[in-house]
Amino acid sequence: MPLAHMKPMLKKAQLEKFGVAAFNMIDYNSARAVVDGAQELNAPVIIQLSVKTINLWGFQPIAEWVRMLSDSVDVPVALHLDHCKDLNVIKNCIDAGWTSVMFDGSSLSFKENIRQTKLAYEIATSAGVGLEAEIGAIGGTEDDKFVAEDDAILANVDECVEFCQHFPDLAVFAPAIGTAHGVYKGEPNIAYDRLTEITSSVDIPIALHGGTGLEAEQFSRCISSGCAKVNISTMHKLQFIQGFTGLKETQPNLGEPIPFIDAQYELMKKGVKDMIALFGSQGKA
Ligand SMILES: [Zn+2]
Repeated sequence: MPLAHMKPMLKKAQLEKFGVAAFNMIDYNSARAVVDGAQELNAPVIIQLSVKTINLWGFQPIAEWVRMLSDSVDVPVALHLDHCKDLNVIKNCIDAGWTSVMFDGSSLSFKENIRQTKLAYEIATSAGVGLEAEIGAIGGTEDDKFVAEDDAILANVDECVEFCQHFPDLAVFAPAIGTAHGVYKGEPNIAYDRLTEITSSVDIPIALHGGTGLEAEQFSRCISSGCAKVNISTMHKLQFIQGFTGLKETQPNLGEPIPFIDAQYELMKKGVKDMIALFGSQGKA
């Protein structure tokens, strides 16, 4: 089917208390593993990209790949731009066919974040595309952005309410709740109370960033507390590499590339299906 919009997908997830998995694609094979995994479990899915990955392949090739993959299945697939501060990149994504975008103003002051998010909101909503916005500071490394876990700041509830009042049509809201990007250094310290306070005061689906490394019980608690979009980036990236290196270890003399691509695809697809099943979006397409 044609590329889907994220807002209705996440509204349904919010109401029915399941999580839609959002994977950061790397290349065509990685996108194929995500879309096929979702199709096999009849689940909605989000393919998202960091600006770094877009810079590698270009807007048009990525949009073509994901559109073609989406056309080949009958589950909703949204194409989303992850953490972005550059309005030009946002515009280029929308022009190329992205169905949602994120503006990340979390490193700005609260007032400046609202001011700049408004610019992104106008661009996105006038094009009929959903917007994700963030407040607080999610720890860890994502793309070129690094926030020391000690410096990570939980989103303030009053600020969440005020922020969302400016953006009633926001597709998804990302308040920092203690999760971190990358690989967790210690135990993830999720502020469930804060999350519940936010979801009881803000009626916009919540995005959970920093999903890799959380336990099943932590995912289900976040999802039942209102997280409708669950981001998985690091796991998918590690499996992208492990697919190759794992086969190289067992068959060191193999010189044909296609078995490596197959092994990588199967490992990533298994990871995708595991996450979809864990988040309860199986059968929810
Ligand atoms: Zn993130």
